[in-house]
This record gives sequence, C-alpha cells and structure tokens, in this order.
Amino acid sequence: MAAKIPTRLHLSEDEVPRYWYNLRADMADKPQPLLHPETLTPITKADLEPVFCKEPVKQELDETTRLIPIPEGVQEFYRAYRPAALIRAYFLEKALATPAEIYYKFEGTNTSGSHKLNSAGPQSFYAKAEGLSSLVTETGAGQWGTAMAMAAGFYGLNLTVFMVKVSSEQKPHRRALIETYGARLIPSPSDTTESGRAILAKDPSSGGSLGCAISEAIEKAVKTEKCRYVPGSVLNHVALHQSIIGQEAKAALDKYGIKPDVIIGCAGGGSNLAGLIAPFMGERLAGTSKARFIAAEPASCPSFTRGRYAYDFGDTAKATPLIRMLTLGSGFVPSSSHAGGLRYHGMNPILSKLYKDGFLEAQAHVQSAVFEAAVQFMKVEGILPAPESAHAIKAAIDEALECKKTGEKKVILFGLSGTGYFDLSAYMAYNNKTMVDYVPGDEELERGFASIPDIPQNRV
Ligand SMILES: *Cc1c(COP(=O)(O)O)cnc(C)c1O
Repeated sequence: MAAKIPTRLHLSEDEVPRYWYNLRADMADKPQPLLHPETLTPITKADLEPVFCKEPVKQELDETTRLIPIPEGVQEFYRAYRPAALIRAYFLEKALATPAEIYYKFEGTNTSGSHKLNSAGPQSFYAKAEGLSSLVTETGAGQWGTAMAMAAGFYGLNLTVFMVKVSSEQKPHRRALIETYGARLIPSPSDTTESGRAILAKDPSSGGSLGCAISEAIEKAVKTEKCRYVPGSVLNHVALHQSIIGQEAKAALDKYGIKPDVIIGCAGGGSNLAGLIAPFMGERLAGTSKARFIAAEPASCPSFTRGRYAYDFGDTAKATPLIRMLTLGSGFVPSSSHAGGLRYHGMNPILSKLYKDGFLEAQAHVQSAVFEAAVQFMKVEGILPAPESAHAIKAAIDEALECKKTGEKKVILFGLSGTGYFDLSAYMAYNNKTMVDYVPGDEELERGFASIPDIPQNRV
C-alpha cells in the first residue's frame, strides 16, 4: 500500500492525554441546569450527594473548568486498554470507491466490549477514594453492567446490577460475564425494593424496563450504608469521562496533521458521541474549525430528530432530577430493536443544546439499513461492530458515498463504540431476513410527550 498514513495512528505513552475536556466551559450558551423535581430550582450538591459519588457530583455541576486532570489511579486503569485504536478505514474507502478519507476510533477492545468502561473506571475510582464500600447500577442490554462489574472489581468495591428482566433472560452470556467479574445481578423488577414490589404487584409477569431498573438501583443506593448509584450515560459527568475518546482522537490526528471535516457518532444517551466530538466541537465553537458533527440514532427511538426540547425525568419512576434535554418523554417505551444501548427516551443535555443551537446535525436510520452497513464494514475492516456503533457506520458510509458523487475529498471521523459479539442473534435475524424495521407513528410519540412534566419551565 502506497499510503503515507499508517492504518493505525498510534499515540506513544507520553502523548496520551492526561486531561478530560469539559466542553461546557467553552460554550457561550450553556445547557440549562438540572432542576429539583419538587422545588423546580437548580439542583445543588447537597441534593445530589445522597445518590451519586462526591467528585462526579462536583463534575456534574462544573461548567467552568475546561481541563480536568485524570487522576493517577484512573490513568493507571485506562492504561490496561487505552489508548484506543484510531484506524484509517483504507479497505472501506476502497470498497466504496470514495475519494473521502475515513477514520474510526475503536472502543471495543476491552472485555466489556464498549466505551462504557471509560466512565465505569473513574466512577469506581472516586467511590473507592471517598470511602464507599459498594455501588449499585442498572443495565439494559448489559454493556454498562459489564463495564461496571469490571471496574468495581478492579477497585475492590461490591456491585449490585439491576438488569432488565427480559434482557437478563435473552442475554444469559452477558449475565454470566457480569457475575464472573464478581457483581451481584438482580433481574428487575425484583422483590428486593419497594419500587420493584410495586411493579410486580401490578403485573407479576412484568419483563421490566430500564426506567424500572434505574428506580430500583437508586432506591437501593440511598437505603444502603456507604453505597451510591452510578449512571452509565446521559449525565454531563459521564460525557466528561468519555471525552478521553475525543482527546485521544484529536491528539493522534494532530500528530499526523489531519483535520476531520465531518465527525459522526451513534447516540443512545449521548455519552460516546459527546466524548468523541468534545475537543473538535470546542474548536468549532471558537471559530477555528468548520467541521460538521452528526448524531446517528435509531428511527425507532428518535430523540434528536423527533424529540421535544424540554425538562424531563431520566427514568419512568421519576426518581431523577429534571433534565433539560431532547426527549420523547420518560413514558415513551422504545420498541425492542437490536441496538439495545440506543433505546433511551432522552439525550445528554450538552448535545441537546448543541443540536438546538445548530452546531450538531442528526440522522435517524432503520435497523435493516444499519445492519447492511455493519456487514459491509465488517467484511472489509475485520471488526464485528455492535449494532449501536453500526448507526455511525451507516452515516459515515452515506457521507463517503456523497463524496463519491461530488468528488470531494472530505476527511470523515466516526466513533466505533463497541463490538457485536453479544449481538449475534441480531445478525442472525438480519441474515434470515426476519429483522423488522419499526418507526413509531406521530400518535405514539404524542403519548410519550404527554408524560413530559407540565411545569412552568416547559411552557415558555
Ligand atoms: C451503550 C452503548 C451506546 C450508547 O450509549 P451512549 O451513551 O449514547 O454512548 C453506543 N454503543 C455501544 C457499543 C454501547 O454499548
């Protein structure tokens, strides 16, 4: 191959970024504050600390510190699987016969299989540092539960994971992995919490939901000594930890003198996308870059492209603070698509604000088109992508094909957030042509919007 740029854009040990980047510090127009659901006033440290760990709370509320040092103890954790590979997709470029250059940042090389470990590590580190003995969380498809099981085990903390009952039954191998790392897994709804018992009383055969699992986890965290709840996405401190993705990608691209024109990521709660784009968006906001940013979401759960920008709860039981974000309503129940990690009604507040202000574009794709892109990619690039990540592949391929039409030599960077080894039944459905594309109708979305709280802040 006659290329000047290698397929892998390596960073040496001393080139690895030592700071997370807090994009909010560089936003002239910042996202609105979280609100206390009863007083409807901005949430305080004191409101959040009974539920979340101290340092993450501080980070959640910090909108002025640009660069936040990654603690030594987290840098050590990251060293086990980072820097993540930044790969030039030569073979995909060739297969598409596009003049575009395509790069992807691959977050799937750790055992949990996704970027989620980037926040599971620091959240566990901070919990240990403040003297806690256990953590509680929820998991839908299982990626966050696995990442937390790895990180909590590494830092010597006990972990309980409430896993949505249907997924714990559909994905026994995820469950096995979480338990192998030493975490306690409870299918949700369970009889171990009041919120779980209330749901079971109404519907003993309930298969559970992410909202229900979040409520059980928060309840257990606040009722247990030296225990806190750890969130896997949506919140700004999770996005902050994920900025390691963008920091590394930018360091490597800068090293080789490459400037991306288009940056693409898939979006569920928004953490990997927010993390990938952060430093590049910082330049765009400062006026030193004209890069475009694209969120790729499932057509079955279209928070960006069809959501409302309003204050809403992060969970169905309304146990979280109110978050101003793009939302389909906490009562919206996404159809059971194969990209489990993208089935969430809301979106990270920073991304929501950037979208409202025109800095971020969004596309919704149906799953059959997403899997077609995934298969096209895996055949030439040799990586089996997670269905979630394949949304970004789909958007990147579309962009590269557009370049083929116009002859433009754009530089495309996309986030490949994880691997698909636990999603082979989805690939089987694609191969058997039994995969169904579901797009909610307007009436169904209206029912979800009806669950958005009717508070003065939402009436302006
Ligand atoms: C969880 C997950 C996502 C979606 O989460 P975000 O917070 O939107 O990043 C995307 N890809 C993979 C592989 C995941 O596990």
